[in-house]
Amino acid sequence: MQATPGKQNLLGSPPDELAAFFAGLGEKPFRARQLLQWVYQRRVTEFEAMTDLSKRLRRELAETAEIDLPEPVSRHDSGDGTVKWLFASGSGQAVETVFIPEPGRGTLCISSQVGCALDCSFCATGAQGFNRNLTAAEIVGQVWHANQALPARRSGEPAVTNVVFMGMGEPLANYRNVVAATELLISDWAWGLSRRRVTISTSGIVPNIDRLGDDCNVSLAVSLHAPNDGLRNELVPINRRHPIDELLAACWAYAAKHANRFVTFEYVLLKNVNDTLAHADELVGLLAGKPAKVNLIPFNPFPNTRYERSSAETIRLFQARLRARGLVATTRRTRGDDIDAACGQLAGRVSDRIRVRLSEKRLRVASA
Ligand code: SAH
Ligand code: SF4
Repeated sequence: MQATPGKQNLLGSPPDELAAFFAGLGEKPFRARQLLQWVYQRRVTEFEAMTDLSKRLRRELAETAEIDLPEPVSRHDSGDGTVKWLFASGSGQAVETVFIPEPGRGTLCISSQVGCALDCSFCATGAQGFNRNLTAAEIVGQVWHANQALPARRSGEPAVTNVVFMGMGEPLANYRNVVAATELLISDWAWGLSRRRVTISTSGIVPNIDRLGDDCNVSLAVSLHAPNDGLRNELVPINRRHPIDELLAACWAYAAKHANRFVTFEYVLLKNVNDTLAHADELVGLLAGKPAKVNLIPFNPFPNTRYERSSAETIRLFQARLRARGLVATTRRTRGDDIDAACGQLAGRVSDRIRVRLSEKRLRVASA
């Protein structure tokens, strides 16, 4: 992004904010709808080309505002159709965006922060520490760019049909910008995705789960990863502040705000840590009879981690046990392994590479 000093970036402004912006210019609120349609549906970013706005308004917009998009620094295509982009986020760091095509849908996994402060012990992003929140423009820019770069679907719809906040960062720790971006994802004037097709994944910032239910009530995924507080305190440190019973109460309240709504519980399987049948039974004890689905995630190892992936057989038995006891349980397929595309655990490696490249450059400069 190359913001122009003195100009307001209108990318990422949700409908209400945009209506207020136009009111400030003495324009009718429906100008917001027109602008949103140009930017998100037609992907036109030059005000001059927005022909249903008056010439005077177009000129005024060009003088005071802009649509400033983040530019990816690289794109990697996997043999299985998965695509990953890296967006530079300053200080030699990058965030990742991953597109996962599946029959009938195209899911985009987006980032919400550069790094993450929550320090889950099995997560490469956590190991990197927290750098900063992404702006709403940087969040929606990932979706805008994917739809621009990928061919439209046969139906004529844009490539991205589903969005999951499962890239880098904790979305509920960047609440305001994530909600602004989500409003654009679901607004009929922008992308118009159904709330079910937008998923916010959280490690359990309970007060913001409560707020989210009132503010935009999209699909919720919760990174549970352990069936008791002792183990979860170790794996997901935010559990010390918001233990499992408090977290689950917030989840059931969230689900109750919408009919037919399930909460998805993510559970990364770590060899000999949380993957025994006793753990599966404890998990059943927490979730049986509740509006819950379990998504088992094979652990993605990264350099210097103390954990290992559970064997395929262990994962199969764990899933079978949950199902036998009445839970809906699926196992996430690993995709894009050849391009390091697994959601939510790449950034460390990526930034390491960028840092290495930068320090090599510095060394070359220093020794020149
Ligand atoms: N911060 C949010 C969303 C980003 S992480 C959250 O924690 O929910 C998306 C998912 O990837 C989370 O369930 C996270 O726990 C999981 N994850 C993190 N590191 C992983 C790893 N090394 N292998 C597999 N899944 C991982
Ligand atoms: Fe942050 Fe999610 Fe990684 Fe935990 S799993 S450190 S909350 S990104």
